[in-house]
Amino acid sequence: MLFSELPLANPLQRAVRAVGYEQPTPIQEQSIPSLLEGKDLLGIAQTGTGKTAAFALPILQLLLDSGKFRAPKTCRALILLPTRELAIQVADCFKQYAQFTAISTTCIFGGVGDASQKNSLIRGVDVLVATPGRLLDLIGQKAVSLKALEFFVLDEADRMLDMGFIHDIRKVVALLPQKRQNLFFSATMPDDITKLAATILRPNPVRVEVAPQSTPIERIRQELYRIDKRRKGALLKELLLEHIEMKKVLVFSRTKHGADKITRVLEKAGVKCAAIHGNKSQTRRQEALKNFKDEKIRVLVATDIAARGIDVDDVSHVFNYDLPDVPETFVHRIGRTARAGKDGIAISFCAPDEEQDLRAIEKLTKIKIPEGDKAIFEKLPPPQKETPESEMRNARGRGFSKQPRPPKKEARPENRGGSNLPKGSDQPNRENRQPKKAPNPPVPQQPGENPHKGKRRRNRPGSRARRRMRESGNTPS
Ligand code: AMP
Repeated sequence: MLFSELPLANPLQRAVRAVGYEQPTPIQEQSIPSLLEGKDLLGIAQTGTGKTAAFALPILQLLLDSGKFRAPKTCRALILLPTRELAIQVADCFKQYAQFTAISTTCIFGGVGDASQKNSLIRGVDVLVATPGRLLDLIGQKAVSLKALEFFVLDEADRMLDMGFIHDIRKVVALLPQKRQNLFFSATMPDDITKLAATILRPNPVRVEVAPQSTPIERIRQELYRIDKRRKGALLKELLLEHIEMKKVLVFSRTKHGADKITRVLEKAGVKCAAIHGNKSQTRRQEALKNFKDEKIRVLVATDIAARGIDVDDVSHVFNYDLPDVPETFVHRIGRTARAGKDGIAISFCAPDEEQDLRAIEKLTKIKIPEGDKAIFEKLPPPQKETPESEMRNARGRGFSKQPRPPKKEARPENRGGSNLPKGSDQPNRENRQPKKAPNPPVPQQPGENPHKGKRRRNRPGSRARRRMRESGNTPS
């Protein structure tokens, strides 16, 4: 099928040609006709499948068809996304696809002043792309109302829930008019997401599933290096120096502190790189992303939350410098490469205390990751013996310590120092929620005494995902 065969108006056909699309991707082919008929849609799709155009093009067509006009301080279509990067990208897509129409798009997100965002809403907008916190904030200030809304899109629903947005989403949904067309997208459909979808979509929505849930894209070639934590930096450096074909490299770090440390190691080795995470200002994050897209830097080091919104074509290699606690996060990470029909390589480093995470990932993906070429280890410094201090350092930023706690040393949280509010974050301390706390200082314990007595137990990070896997007999639900 060709785009020209889809019933899209000339200005949209022109825009599609201008961005260089010829054939619709499977999700576009399956979604666009049903959406043009006014149906609700449940889309189970990972990023990289072309889902933005799958919902943006039919919404733009219907906005053009309806003959209505935007009223002051209202929007006609609302797209809700979990991160500002993603919001900016989706808004950019809408602007590109609507470039030959009079349809207006505005993007609002937290972490920056709200004055210009409020100004852009005064005369009303056709398409509003928003993160939940800032949207509710501006609704509270009466800068925008949802009463005239015709289309509602909830994108990256599973990620929204992982990031703790459920209450905000419920508040937004409660403000929507009854009569509206709904689109709901999620990469995975565990029970809580299915329940949320049922509260938003009208009965019997069209269901479009373009890739098996939680399965990495098959084209991704994977390699695993078992390596102690302290030599991961040296290994990354050697691999980058040895393989010049690693041109556009995304490195995932579990923590912000770790991301900064990796960039220091690479910079020292002459590798052009930058880090993006919640402690970097919005301007610096955008600048780093642009330099990466324009290939002015070779390596972008990112935390999971910051990377969620990255839409960069041609990422040649994804490195899992640290393995994530939540196996689904691994799938999201490596899905950053091999996008839009291209091949990609994902390289994972696994330290001894990450073996459990590796097993969970291999179980979820049903893929045993092959080990990389061990000859590279000869170029690395010999492994050093772990000291109680280095164990503590390594344990920081992990959700829980599998190492014995050294006596009397106080563990410092990874995100110590300064405000708990990551600069530019949409919600307070959002990024700090993911890599959970470092171990508490040891509690003096009498023999036979239960150290947890009288205390609330915290959920282990990833417990939701693990529970899900258990409940579904170790297969993705
Ligand atoms: P998405 O899943 O919406 O984030 O899209 C992933 C990438 O695929 C983006 O870089 C899009 O520009 C690109 N893309 C979307 N639709 C098409 C298409 N029909 N043909 C070629 N590339 C596309």
